[in-house]
Amino acid sequence: MSYCSLCNWETAIIQGGTLSISYGKDSLACIGACEHLGWKINRIVHAEVWATDTIPAELPPMVEFKKKADRIIKERWGIEVEHFCATSYAGVSNGKVTYEDVFYKTMTKGQFVGAIKGFPMAIGQWCQALKLNAIPKFADNTYLGIAADEPKRFKTLTGTKLSPLKEIGWDEDYCGLWCKYNDLLSPTYTDSYRGGCWFCHYQGVEQLRLLRRNYPQYWDLLLKWDADSPVPFKSDGHTVHDYDKRFRCEDEGIVPTDRTFRWDMLDRPFQMSFFGGMFNG
Ligand code: SF4
Repeated sequence: MSYCSLCNWETAIIQGGTLSISYGKDSLACIGACEHLGWKINRIVHAEVWATDTIPAELPPMVEFKKKADRIIKERWGIEVEHFCATSYAGVSNGKVTYEDVFYKTMTKGQFVGAIKGFPMAIGQWCQALKLNAIPKFADNTYLGIAADEPKRFKTLTGTKLSPLKEIGWDEDYCGLWCKYNDLLSPTYTDSYRGGCWFCHYQGVEQLRLLRRNYPQYWDLLLKWDADSPVPFKSDGHTVHDYDKRFRCEDEGIVPTDRTFRWDMLDRPFQMSFFGGMFNG
């Protein structure tokens, strides 16, 4: 279904809309696009996830960047970014439902009554609901950060869900440039770490290696959750303890780091240690 651009313009200029930002380049560039188009931004909102009551889901560089971006947005555009988090989910209700709250929530029905939820399973990722349930519904238009070169996502757009980027014709690269020149480019584009939750079961081995090396206190918490979880961390059955063992063996030179790793290498660490020279030399 196609919608009339002129009507969108009118409703966006007169009524304005709510912009939800992830602090990625596309959603932040929507601020600039709206400014150029003359579209009114009524509020800017962000869905925040917390690991525990005191530890955010994102790593410190991203937490700092978000504070900086909020400052810039307030100074340049006069809008206070509103941060929301889930307040009720999976039978947990309080001012801030954290990943840890739901992780330790005991199941009351189904096959596993009495067991805690533990890590999200590949199907039914409960963690994503913490984000999706965070932001209340607002009556005005919703501005989405769908870039002009993402036509597959255009089907999400409706008469009230509008894309300022599509309307102005900014592609993803241009959004990155806009952010760079407005000092709003997130460190996930420039540094070697992935955005999202530091405890994400989807992250790759290098990200887990970096987490263990750079944030040992977070790694220790992940190991604690791993010990308590009835569900393995990775959908292939590997646990955080498996990765911990792997990384310790790497540190000690017991497994090679310059060739393809196989989990069965960990089953014979003493042999590997004895022949370590063969792998490292
Ligand atoms: S980043 Fe990972 S852990 Fe966080 S909500 Fe998304 S899937 Fe879940």
